[in-house]
Amino acid sequence: MRSNAHFGGLLKPVPQEAFSAWLARGARTKNPAPFIRATRCLKRLGVEDADGNLTPAVAEDLSMALGLSSECLRRSFPLPGDWLKAAPEKRLQFCELCLLNDFRSGRQPSSRITWFYWWFNVCPVHGCLLHTGDSTSAPAALLSFVQFNLTLERLPAPVTFRSIERRVKFRCSTPQILQLMAWYFQRWYQASVQRGTVIIGDVELAASVPEVELFMEDILAIIGKKRNYPIDPRSYIARLLDIKSWCSLRSNLRPEAGCEAFLCKDVGEHSAEIRMAMFALLGLFLKLPNCVRVWQLGGGPAYDGYIERLWGSMHSDAVRVPSYLDWLKQRSGGWSPVVRAHFHYLLES
Ligand SMILES: [Zn+2]
Repeated sequence: MRSNAHFGGLLKPVPQEAFSAWLARGARTKNPAPFIRATRCLKRLGVEDADGNLTPAVAEDLSMALGLSSECLRRSFPLPGDWLKAAPEKRLQFCELCLLNDFRSGRQPSSRITWFYWWFNVCPVHGCLLHTGDSTSAPAALLSFVQFNLTLERLPAPVTFRSIERRVKFRCSTPQILQLMAWYFQRWYQASVQRGTVIIGDVELAASVPEVELFMEDILAIIGKKRNYPIDPRSYIARLLDIKSWCSLRSNLRPEAGCEAFLCKDVGEHSAEIRMAMFALLGLFLKLPNCVRVWQLGGGPAYDGYIERLWGSMHSDAVRVPSYLDWLKQRSGGWSPVVRAHFHYLLES
């Protein structure tokens, strides 16, 4: 843990704290001047997203305003990539137990940078699904959570992943299994971004992370596709999560409109629960060893080819012309040859 001395005497960021959240917190300390200067600097330079990729010139001005080196700023607030990042006004996801921990530690509740990404759905500290609040303000999210739970005594106890893993071996609900798989997916993805390489099991793909992201977006577009009620069957995810509605995204278009109009092009349109299941299944279709292991421990089929079969039912359960598989084959022309070769099993009928 860094000491204040190593942080130029300024407020120490909490792990993973978003830069904007740290600035807001700092502006309410006894030494608000550097934080206010930095906030004004962002405004003057026309920076709309303080948690985006800042240009070297902006970073330089910020470091002057805060009295910190730009290298220290960069290392203290690393971004977990650009992939599937919510627009600033849609950053409404919070782990309320993390916020409560801030409060109990005498800090202003603060947003973590990872909460701004659609692929991040499970808190790695508390093992719970992120909650969607009404505003982008972390203190407001905590307040509504506490009011909803009436008293602090009634707040849920944190669940650790070790305890979930142990339970999976005996008895665990399908949502809990999916949650664990989603957590393994996000851990794998974060490690890939940090290393800059993509490793699945024993295989290191000779493809860049952005190349794999492009491919994963196409798979997610099919996993989260919209449905026409009552023509299409109920979605697999709705069945897995025992959701009464047909699916979480509906379209009034007739199936004759083809498959393109039904694809999920914005993962953020789905609720946190559905997104969690989408990334859990993505991890399974990528054959990430931990996702496969948890799926099987949870009672999923384990025969050869079951993943291909499940994928087949995922893309062919709603009939369109061209089919979702034909669309994917056409899209695969834009994938890197290594990605196309490694994931060929998702292109076979
Ligand atoms: Zn948490």
